[in-house]
Amino acid sequence: MNVVVLMILAAAVPYAAWSYWDKKRQARNAMRHEEAQQLGDDIFPITLHPEIDLDKCIGSGACIRACPEKDILAITDGRARLINPLACVGHSACMSACPVGAIKLIYGTATRGVELPKLSPHYETSQRGIYVVGELSGMGLIRNCVEQGRQAATAIVKEGRRGGDYDAIVVGSGPSGTAAALQLEAYNIRTLVVDQTAWGGTIAHYPRAKVVMTGSFELPGYGTVRKRTMSKEQLLELWRDIRARTQLHIEEGVRVEAIHAEGNVWRVVGTNGWVKRAANVVLALGRRGAPNTLGVPGEELPMVAYRVLEPQVYRDKHVLVVGGGNAAADNAIALVEQGHCASVSLSYRRTELGRLRGLVRNKIDKMFRSGQITPYLGTEVAEIHRDRVILRGARGTETVPCDAVIIQIGGRAPSELLRTIGIELVEKRGAA
Ligand SMILES: Cc1cc2nc3c(=O)[nH]c(=O)nc-3n(C[C@H](O)[C@H](O)[C@H](O)COP(=O)(O)OP(=O)(O)OC[C@H]3O[C@@H](n4cnc5c(N)ncnc54)[C@H](O)[C@@H]3O)c2cc1C
Repeated sequence: MNVVVLMILAAAVPYAAWSYWDKKRQARNAMRHEEAQQLGDDIFPITLHPEIDLDKCIGSGACIRACPEKDILAITDGRARLINPLACVGHSACMSACPVGAIKLIYGTATRGVELPKLSPHYETSQRGIYVVGELSGMGLIRNCVEQGRQAATAIVKEGRRGGDYDAIVVGSGPSGTAAALQLEAYNIRTLVVDQTAWGGTIAHYPRAKVVMTGSFELPGYGTVRKRTMSKEQLLELWRDIRARTQLHIEEGVRVEAIHAEGNVWRVVGTNGWVKRAANVVLALGRRGAPNTLGVPGEELPMVAYRVLEPQVYRDKHVLVVGGGNAAADNAIALVEQGHCASVSLSYRRTELGRLRGLVRNKIDKMFRSGQITPYLGTEVAEIHRDRVILRGARGTETVPCDAVIIQIGGRAPSELLRTIGIELVEKRGAA
């Protein structure tokens, strides 16, 4: 008898624990799904992401297990739902894994369109000699981007347009720009790579130790990368090695702001009076765009950043976050929770924060009340100094002692640059 009771208990206790844990997880996922719903279309990425047909979905969970990024899909109410679509990078593993074909990958949503450049099969835009490759063309992932870069470069070689300071300028040094530049160099086409930040593109902004799914890909003049997965650090090391072992001409810290036709070449205009001419331009800008700046004295100081890569870097520092949207709030919270900063303050020009996700709203309100974040609402940054920031608001000027400033006030989408160049764009609204 005792043995039977023990056996029942041995099975019942883990089952009860699992049921309790599963119920909690489902409740949390339902809440996150609800939050995502409340934010409407803002929560969907502009690149490819899954759309689930709830009538077809049988709640097998295969899509969740297949997703390499995790925590994007979850089962609530017996169906798969998107709980964090913005984190989707378009691996498409969910679509392949679904046993009943309930998932398709789409651009944009029915109500929020996504503008993509109209491209030839070789990635040439409606402007001759200007090519768009990589995520900006609508198709992300390292391997796809590398392939597009190679194909565009091969088309440039075949087209034969030459002239200018360089025969080709590649704007952006992520996977697509790097592959294009390597392919062009392999054909002895005089090529310059420019990047508004640093060599490597988005991969430099992955979270620390992220496992990156790459699949094998070929970098012309460098070799074939055969690893299926790599850590972020290994991928960065690969990019450093490409730079060291090839002869690419690279200029960092130049943001291309305009491109005009000038005779048979393109005049490429960058920040701080930078101008170069080339017969061909490859735009490999990715989708992150350029962050908006405040345009105040002191913004050029090294203590100013436009994103938080690792909150731990700010340990023991007095940090001021500027902005009132989800990104600013997320970072202020991360600085408190993971950064172990000496202090965190938040300045926003309005007297109320923007439309925040529910959990973020709750957390930041709590942190304002507890004093973990000092709010400076209704203030604007007037000056930035090495050890303080001067804020201006209805109460006059205030001095906030700080040794790091994070500015998160939105950004300009890369499609704006495409439009000014006269590149024809097409709008996709939830198109597969
Ligand atoms: C968190 C995260 C995880 C991911 N994980 C994976 C993964 O596991 N596997 C995978 O295959 N993919 C992954 N991806 C997607 C992959 O990183 C992107 O698809 C890829 O980096 C896009 O390459 P790209 O060359 O198009 O652009 P990017 O890598 O975005 O590079 C664009 C470059 O252009 C520069 N630039 C932009 N505008 C200008 C301008 N006006 N002037 C000068 N320079 C400019 C930028 O500074 C940037 O360096 C992930 C993405 C993210 C965000």
